[in-house]
Amino acid sequence: MALSFELSANPNPASEAERSAILENPGFGKHFTDHMAVATWTKDAGWHDGRVTAYGPISLMPSAAVLHYAQEIFEGLKAYRHADGSIWSFRPEANAQRMARSAARLALPVLPEEDFIASLRALVTADQAWVPEAPDGSEKSLYLRPFMYASEAFLGVRPANEVTFSVIASPAGAYFSGGLKPVTLWISQHYARAGAGGTGAAKCGGNYASSLAGQLEGIEHGCDQAVFLDAATQTFIEELGGMNLFFVTKDNRLLTPELTGSILEGVTRSSILDLGKELGLDPQEQRIEIEQWKDGVASGEIVEIFACGTAAVVTPVGELRWEGGSTPSTAGAAGGEITNAIRSRLLDIQYGRVEDTHGWLTQLA
Ligand SMILES: *Cc1c(COP(=O)(O)O)cnc(C)c1O
Repeated sequence: MALSFELSANPNPASEAERSAILENPGFGKHFTDHMAVATWTKDAGWHDGRVTAYGPISLMPSAAVLHYAQEIFEGLKAYRHADGSIWSFRPEANAQRMARSAARLALPVLPEEDFIASLRALVTADQAWVPEAPDGSEKSLYLRPFMYASEAFLGVRPANEVTFSVIASPAGAYFSGGLKPVTLWISQHYARAGAGGTGAAKCGGNYASSLAGQLEGIEHGCDQAVFLDAATQTFIEELGGMNLFFVTKDNRLLTPELTGSILEGVTRSSILDLGKELGLDPQEQRIEIEQWKDGVASGEIVEIFACGTAAVVTPVGELRWEGGSTPSTAGAAGGEITNAIRSRLLDIQYGRVEDTHGWLTQLA
């Protein structure tokens, strides 16, 4: 039976003045709306008790399995306000399906796609006033964070018999305030984020925890983020801690590392593979060696590099650094022409400024 997410309204919502001040300058992931969606799963009863309730602290036993064995997954997508005031999300069914694949890998229960979408719709309807207006170029949105975790109080190692699903929402500004700025990347040679047979293709907190040491090493070397290579041979490019990578060649190929089981299949990545074709590029998924990056930039074969994901959309990549070396940047001051064309195209679709010929948008409110 489909879950319903009944609203029990927050008795102490933010005042209109507080909310306007936040929406004026939301930042990212700092402020949260008045409500959250919640549902419970038990082995005996399946999914039940769906609700939208006041955003606030959750109560967990110290023995809750998630705190010990990290049985947890999440998703990330956005709600966009269009010029007519209506609110839309971008390919939410792809997030629902990915969450189902992540759940299977982490031995968590699958939340049916219709319940996933219903939870988003219920939360966004309750908190519509938190979806920022987005006049041309503003890039503001409401970031939605569905997550699921083992809430059972039990220290034995087995899949939990009680699981909680929740969605929280956070107003988000442009990732780059003051215009696009290329990021400098560090090759993480001492730390991998995921290996063959591991959880790299699942969106789980554990992958992020394992990426932090490489990330820190990069920051110590003056970089913004780390690039992770295949764990076995340290030869092939995989992705960043939370974004996929693309390369544009001088003969208009659009290359991205093929999905090997340790790379997260981004919704932005797969959308860009489709859009690339429409923009006259030749998209190809393949194994790409880190040496091809260094050589390609040196020879002029690679003309642009960018990273992509829901939060920052498309981010130009400048320099690549490693122990004892670096490549020059191909990104200029604000990213190359193709990087910016892909970025604008995606944003125009998401904000309803061009026709949604792919059927990628779903109305939430
Ligand atoms: C979420 C995520 C991405 C980007 O996925 P999108 O669906 O495009 O937001 C890329 N890599 C990792 C490791 C991720 O967790």
